[in-house]
Amino acid sequence: MNARIPVWTNIRAMSLLACSLLCVLVLFVFFPSQIEAAWQPSLEIGVQTGEASVDLRPVRGDGVLFLQDDNKIQARYSMAQNIHVEIQGKGFRVNGKSFPGDILNFKVEKKGNSSKPRWNLQGKSYRGNLRIMKRGTKLVVVNILSTEDYLRGTVGKEMPPDWNEEALKAQAVAARTFALKNRKRHAKEGFDLCNTTHCQVYGGADDEHLSVDHAVLDTYGEVLTYQGKLIEAVFHTDSGGMTEYSRNVWGTDVAYLAPAKEEKQKTMSWNENIPVAKLDAVFAKNGLSIGSLKRIELTPLTIGKESKDRFQSGRIKSAKFVGDKGTVNVSGNKLREMFAFRSTLFDMHLSHGTISVQGYGRGHGLGLSQHGAQAFAKKGMKYDEILKHYYRGVTIKKLFKLPTPKRWADSTCGHGIHPLHTAGRSQA
Ligand SMILES: [Zn+2]
Repeated sequence: MNARIPVWTNIRAMSLLACSLLCVLVLFVFFPSQIEAAWQPSLEIGVQTGEASVDLRPVRGDGVLFLQDDNKIQARYSMAQNIHVEIQGKGFRVNGKSFPGDILNFKVEKKGNSSKPRWNLQGKSYRGNLRIMKRGTKLVVVNILSTEDYLRGTVGKEMPPDWNEEALKAQAVAARTFALKNRKRHAKEGFDLCNTTHCQVYGGADDEHLSVDHAVLDTYGEVLTYQGKLIEAVFHTDSGGMTEYSRNVWGTDVAYLAPAKEEKQKTMSWNENIPVAKLDAVFAKNGLSIGSLKRIELTPLTIGKESKDRFQSGRIKSAKFVGDKGTVNVSGNKLREMFAFRSTLFDMHLSHGTISVQGYGRGHGLGLSQHGAQAFAKKGMKYDEILKHYYRGVTIKKLFKLPTPKRWADSTCGHGIHPLHTAGRSQA
C-alpha cells in the first residue's frame, strides 16, 4: 500500500515518528521521575463530592490504606483490585471491613518497572494519592498531587490543546499562578481547589495531552509576580479588542490588571434580539421601572476611545434608557448580569419594538485573553511577552526548578520545541 509513496516521504515520516516516539518516551519516562525528584508544592483538588459510596482501584501499582494521622498501613490492595468505600456509623466500610475515623488516605505504590502508578476513581484516572473524607452522610474525594501534574490535567481543559505552543505556555503559567495564589480557597471543605470553572477545570490524567505536557514542562515552576507577590492571574475567553481595568469590572484597582490592546479588534461577535416587552419586564423585576422603553442613549462603540458612557476599551460604563414612565442609567455590568450577555462590549439599537444588541468578545475582559494570546502567538510572540502584555508590570519568577537534564541535553528533536532543550533555564 505504501509502494507509491516516495522514499523521502517515508524517511521523513519515519524520522518524524522516531522523534515523536522520543518525545513520548521523554515525557512518559523522564517527566514523572524528574517531577517527583524536584521539590514543588502539592495541591489538594476536590474531585468528587456528594456520593454515599465510591469505587476506586490502583492502576500500575498496589494500593495501601492509611488512617488519619497514622503512618501505619491498615490494608493493602493488589493492582486493579476494586475498592468499594462507604460510610458506616462513625467510620467507613472498605470492601466489607470496618475502619474508624473521618479520613481514609489511599496511596499507590509503584510496582517493579511499571510507569507511574495512578488511581482509577469511578472510571476516571488520577495521578498522585486520594483522600476520602466524610461530610455528613456523603463522601468527599480529594486528589493530592504535585502542582505540575495538576497542570497537565488542567491546561488542556482551559485552552484547546491544539493551540499554538506559546499560547499554551502562557496559559500554563497563568494557571500555575492562579492555583498557587488560590490554594486553600476550599479549606473549609477540606481541600485547596475544586475541579470546576469556579477554580479551574481539572480532568485528571485522562485529560492530558502531549502538547500540554510540553507547555507545562517548558515553563516548569514559573509563576507571575507583582512586587514580589503572586498575582491574581485571571483570564477570559476573548476581550473583543482591548482588555479592561479591574476597577471597571470589580470596582477595585489591581495595578497589573489594566487595558491591553489586542492584535485584532471586534472579535468573537455575538447578537441578541430582545423584545421591548421583555426588557421592560426584566427592568421592572430589577427595580428599574421605566414603563415601556421609548429610547436608548448610548455612544456608538469605538475600541480605544473613552466617552461619557464608555470606557477606553469600548465597554459600556452606563447606558440611558428612556421610558414612558421614567428614565434610568444602567451600568454595562448590570446589563450583562440581567441579560446574561457574553460581554459588556456592545451596541444597542431600538427599532420596531425590538432592541438589537451587537456585541464582541466573551468574558469579563480582565487579564489574559485566551483568543488574544493565540492570535499573538501565531504572529510569533513568545509566551513571556504575551503574559507581560496582558499583566502589566509583572515579573516571571521560577518558584521551583527542574534538575538540569544532562542525559537529554544533546537530543535533537526536529519538530518545533523540545521541552528539555529549555527546561532548567531561569526566568527570574
Ligand atoms: Zn472552586
